[in-house]
Order: sequence, then structure tokens, then C-alpha cells
Amino acid sequence: MQPTTSQLLQRLSESATIAMARKARELKAQGVDVISLSLGEPDFDTPAAMKQAGIDAIEANETHYTPVPGTPRIREAIVHKFQRDNGLAYAMDEVVVSTGAKQSLANVVLSLVDPGDEVILPAPYWVSYEEIVKVAGGIPVVLPTSIDDDYKIQPQALEAAITPKTRLVMYSSPCNPSGSVYTEEETAALAAVLLRHDRVVTISDEIYELINFTEKHASMAAQPGMWERTVTVNGVSKGFAMTGWRLGYIGAPKWIAAACTKIQGQFTSAPSSITQAAAAAALEADPSAVAAPMVEAFRRRRSLMVDGLSKVPGFQVNQPMGAFYVFPDVSALFGKSHAGGVVKDANDLSFYLLEQAQVASVSGAAFGTPECIRLSYAAADDVLEEAIRRIAQACALLH
Ligand code: PMP
Ligand code: GLU
Repeated sequence: MQPTTSQLLQRLSESATIAMARKARELKAQGVDVISLSLGEPDFDTPAAMKQAGIDAIEANETHYTPVPGTPRIREAIVHKFQRDNGLAYAMDEVVVSTGAKQSLANVVLSLVDPGDEVILPAPYWVSYEEIVKVAGGIPVVLPTSIDDDYKIQPQALEAAITPKTRLVMYSSPCNPSGSVYTEEETAALAAVLLRHDRVVTISDEIYELINFTEKHASMAAQPGMWERTVTVNGVSKGFAMTGWRLGYIGAPKWIAAACTKIQGQFTSAPSSITQAAAAAALEADPSAVAAPMVEAFRRRRSLMVDGLSKVPGFQVNQPMGAFYVFPDVSALFGKSHAGGVVKDANDLSFYLLEQAQVASVSGAAFGTPECIRLSYAAADDVLEEAIRRIAQACALLH
């Protein structure tokens, strides 16, 4: 008998964002002029103060293991950040740092979900939510939305989806991939539903908090009664352009924070001590001042993308209010063909655009919304203009 991979691995899909980014890199290495709008990461460099804090940590020999939930310095910085920016009161032992928000999400899901438990995922959801739930043996319950609701769920739909088996609801605002931002009122309306169900915990993924063109951020845990049943996830990857440093964190009731610390203590321990020092410098600073120049650039690029893609026949584009993605509904193109190849769905369109236009996107199917594709606009203006021109040209060939 040959050795085989586990059933768990066989259940798991590769991350669609990472797969598309890999494909674009491979084509580039072969000399193909690919514009990669697949991977969601800021195209800015980490600000100087954070880089210096990392260098200082190395010089000061802060190169040892730290406590699993993080150094006292970074946890204090996070406690302060939650209070200052979100009006949320977490104690030091209610904060856990991880090797990225992705690990924070995995810690929470593995801490709370038993096989057969249901996890509600309003779609579009971020790719890894569904797979992390599957690793835990949970059952993803996808709640569809459409461009007509600005890709946000209605309270009645949430109420109707909750069953005695529901354990978790997971969502991001600003949303990856739609860019939708739940307002304070919309958050309160969802909280009113969630408060009726004692067993349900909500994961509020706020990693795009700083990239919000409405400039109003609503934290679910700040809704009256919700703190006790919410995990607030955040990180430094997006707002501070620190994707490669790998640091995310949660604020959560002590029993959940302790569970995450226990899991992380067996899998990875704490994130790098150097990264923790650099991220502490980020969180201690005035975050909106650090993020402001990046947000200005994203705002300009959003207009460029929304205006440009709206003119492409077959593209229906919503106005994203945060993050750095456009998520056009491209279903009007399904069934059309070029040179004998039929574009049946969003996966096909994404591949067609890669081959014909040399623009890498991600199919909406991976986000639970198969009518759409996702394009990141974390790229220079002239690159985005060229991408729009190529997409328009390729789509004009579809009949
Ligand atoms: N949540 C969302 C919604 C994301 O888009 C991402 C991707 N950066 C993450 C979590 C994970 O971020 P990281 O692991 O880089 O902190
Ligand atoms: N979160 C980013 C994205 O959605 C980075 C890729 C990933 O971590 O999957 O593209």
C-alpha cells in the first residue's frame, strides 16, 4: 500500500487567491506580461517607523520566545487600540496575537466548532473561511446576497438561517471581496438577531478597518450585549502594509482567548518576536495618520476601476466602500464564446482573462458568489488603466 494524504487534506481546497497569484507569478517568470490583480495586498512598503522598530528589536536581542499570546508590550498596545479606535474594553488576557489574522481565524474556529456544527457565512465571504470551517469538521451554511443588496445580508435572512446547530457567524466589514461596509444601523440590526441566540458566537473580521472610504467603522462587539459573544479579529497586514511580517490578533472573552492560546501553544507558539515589536509600533501610532496616504491612493484607484469597468459590456459594478477590491457581477457574459471556447461561469471568465488579456483575477466562486470575479486595485494607476483596457478588449471578443 502506498502512503496517502489524510482525508482532511483531501477535503481541503487550495486557497484560490494564492493559487491565482502563483499562476500569475509562473507566467511572469516565463516572460508573459501578466498584470496580477489577484492577490489582495497593499502595493506600498511598510512605513519607516515600523521597519525601524523591527531593526531595533533585533539589535536589542529581542530574539527569544515570547509568551504564546504575545509580549506584554504588544498586548498593551492592542488593549489601548481597541479602546481608542473601537470603544472596546478588553483586558490583557482577552487579547491573543497570532501569525496573521488567518491563524487567528483558524484558532477561533478550531476552539469553538465541533464536527457537524453549522457556521453561517454570508456570501461573498473571504476564501479561507469556508476551508477553515471544513478543517474543523463544521458545516458551512452559505447565505447568498447579490449586487442589489450591495452584497450585505438582511437581518431576516440571518434569522432564518440560524438553527439549533449554529455555532458561529463569520463576516468581514469592510468586506473582502465585495468592499461593502456595514453601517452602525445595519450592524445593530444584525446584533438584534444574534442576541436572540445564546449559543451563537460571531467572528467580526475587521482587518480592513483602516481602508474604509465612509470613515465610519462599526465593531460588532461594541453593540450592547454583543461583547460577550463576539470575537474581534484584526491585524497589521492591510492597514500598515505589513503582509509579510505575519501578525494578526483577536480581542475575545477570556474563555475564548484562553482556548486560542492553548491551540496556538501546540501549533506555532507566538509570532516572531521581531514582528511583534514592529507591529506594536504600528498599533501605538495614530493608525489613521499612518494609513491616510494609502487610503487616498486606494480611493483614487477605486474611482478609476469602478468608472473603467462599468463601461465594459457585461460588467455590473457595485461601489465598494472599503478594502481594495472590485467585485463585478459578470454573469451577463456567461454562455458567450470566443474562438470556440465557451465562458460558462466565473472560473472560465477568470481563466479567459488570464489567457486573452493577461490579467489575473480571482473567480467569485471561491468567495461563494459565482456570478462575480474579484479584481484587486492595490496596484499603480497606470497598471490599472492598462488592465481595464485589456479586459475591455478581451470581453469585446465574446459573442
Ligand atoms: N481576513 C480577511 C478578510 C482577509 O482578506 C485576509 C487576507 N489578508 C485575512 C483575514 C488574513 O490576513 P493576514 O493573515 O495577512 O493577517
Ligand atoms: N487576503 C488576501 C486575499 O484575499 C491575501 C491572500 C490570502 O491570504 O489568501 O487575496
